[in-house]
Amino acid sequence: MNTLDSNDPRLTPGQGLTKEDALRRMLEGHWRYLENRRSQREVTPQRLQEQADGQYPFAAILGCADSRVSPELIFDQDQGDLFVVRVAGNILDAGGLASLEYAVAHLQVRLIMVFGHEHCGAVKAATQGMSASGAMGFLLSELVEAVEIAKALPPPLLDRAVEANVRRVTQLLPQRSETIGKAVADGRVRIVGAVYRLGSGDVDILDLRNAGVAAAKP
Ligand SMILES: [Zn+2]
Repeated sequence: MNTLDSNDPRLTPGQGLTKEDALRRMLEGHWRYLENRRSQREVTPQRLQEQADGQYPFAAILGCADSRVSPELIFDQDQGDLFVVRVAGNILDAGGLASLEYAVAHLQVRLIMVFGHEHCGAVKAATQGMSASGAMGFLLSELVEAVEIAKALPPPLLDRAVEANVRRVTQLLPQRSETIGKAVADGRVRIVGAVYRLGSGDVDILDLRNAGVAAAKP
């Protein structure tokens, strides 16, 4: 049985939001989080049935697997709102890229956020020149370029490397995926980089000037 109600914006592709609306909704949710007034979520039979019928996320996130950096909590969004890919160091591997492509092509998300964070263990290991074999070696190798960029910037090295890694991945996404590149070029999707500050709970949107949304809290 399809219970989809086409009048309910939550049940339409991208939840009927523009890319600017999508980022604004993320920021508004984050301000609720900071003010410790996160929304009450109810698990009702109707809501469960809606979710069984399909998913309509409005944003995709490529974030770190770190247990302290949960996007649904930090941005105060419900199940079904965010399409989340999490991997240590928020690196861009083939599985993550395919997942984000799916979110753009089939779920019509309006926003992709690359979401790094302070004190990232994966990035820290890369700044220390740690080497490894196998899968861990692959992960570290994906972070080397950001560390090299960060070394040319004012310290602290780890903070600069976290930011450089986020910026690098935001640039790689449209280059490595034709689907994502075309969606960005057509103006359907925006890619933003962001860094979570563990001590304060703040999220810094990198290059917010170009993100089309006012930085100031309303
Ligand atoms: Zn991390």
